[in-house]
Amino acid sequence: MDIAIIGAGMAGLTCARRLSGMGHTVRVFDKGRGPGGRMSSRRVELDGKTLRFDHGAQYFTVHDERFRRQVEEWEADEIVAPWPAAKEGPWVGIPAMNAPIRAMAAEAEVRFGARIDSIRKVGTVWRLSGEGAPDTGFDAVISAVPAEQVAPLLSPNAPDIAQLAEATTSEPCWTVMVAFEDRPDLADTIRHAGPIGWAARNSSKPGRGEGECWVVQGSPEWSRENLEAEKEAIETLLLEQLRNLAGGTLPAIRHASAHRWRYAMCGDAGVGAIWNGNEHIGACGDWLHGPRAENAFLSGWELAQKVIDEG
Ligand SMILES: Cc1cc2nc3c(=O)[nH]c(=O)nc-3n(C[C@H](O)[C@H](O)[C@H](O)COP(=O)(O)OP(=O)(O)OC[C@H]3O[C@@H](n4cnc5c(N)ncnc54)[C@H](O)[C@@H]3O)c2cc1C
Repeated sequence: MDIAIIGAGMAGLTCARRLSGMGHTVRVFDKGRGPGGRMSSRRVELDGKTLRFDHGAQYFTVHDERFRRQVEEWEADEIVAPWPAAKEGPWVGIPAMNAPIRAMAAEAEVRFGARIDSIRKVGTVWRLSGEGAPDTGFDAVISAVPAEQVAPLLSPNAPDIAQLAEATTSEPCWTVMVAFEDRPDLADTIRHAGPIGWAARNSSKPGRGEGECWVVQGSPEWSRENLEAEKEAIETLLLEQLRNLAGGTLPAIRHASAHRWRYAMCGDAGVGAIWNGNEHIGACGDWLHGPRAENAFLSGWELAQKVIDEG
């Protein structure tokens, strides 16, 4: 089949890879400028140095054998490495969290900057509309976007999937990226400290290079309460809390910026993945499996399996 996948995150690219491996022709469309999705990274050039921040997922854990095999491959290719500082058997991409997504995107046919607004079926052919949408039609279409973005895309054609997605909500997460002149007097990772849900010394991850870079995330509750606040206010409030944790002083700040994730950690619809073999439409993504990168991988993997089994 000629298959269109909308969304080039962990789920969409995992699915694309398996389906291509089975001989299908797969094209992936993503509205982002480059690979990452919610495993994105930011690069900041400052005084001739490159600062790196993982401002989405901080690390991933491995429980399932299928994901373990994939992570072992990535490790052998030096795309991921363990990160002992987080003490949960975690893994990170190197030199940034998006490394595994970037590697999968390089093997797939992906068009970035393609924001798909709607899909429609003409006879047996699926057509996509939106900025950067292709002129050609497809035999099958797969949604691999976050829950909150599913309904606008699928509701007229797949109301059952749209309804399930609408019932699965995500938590927001305010994130502050900060680079200090020197190392602050803090542990490499901090959890659950007032408004801070998590803070990490990005520079303690393997292969991160220059600068003393930190990522500070608001807790889900705090992020929800402050969702519409200005970025500058968020920076001030979260850094104030970090300063308190450091005993009242922080080193000079070289760079600070805030990013609002409206949809960060998702709920769990509990069905793994969805495939309608009559209509040739499906959905994968963390929201169908659980709120972590591993779940997104497994959802993409399981959707490909359904297509292989059910046609
Ligand atoms: C702040 C934060 C912290 C996190 N921390 C962790 C953690 O520590 N550990 C962990 O395991 N997980 C963590 N996660 C969750 C993890 O990042 C996700 O579970 C996983 O990346 C989801 O992958 P996905 O492919 O389902 O979705 P995404 O990565 O969101 O990919 C979906 C893609 O769809 C694209 N898209 C959306 N709408 C359209 C459209 N209309 N047209 C075209 N493209 C579209 C987006 O650009 C995106 O690239 C965190 C997430 C966030 C945001």
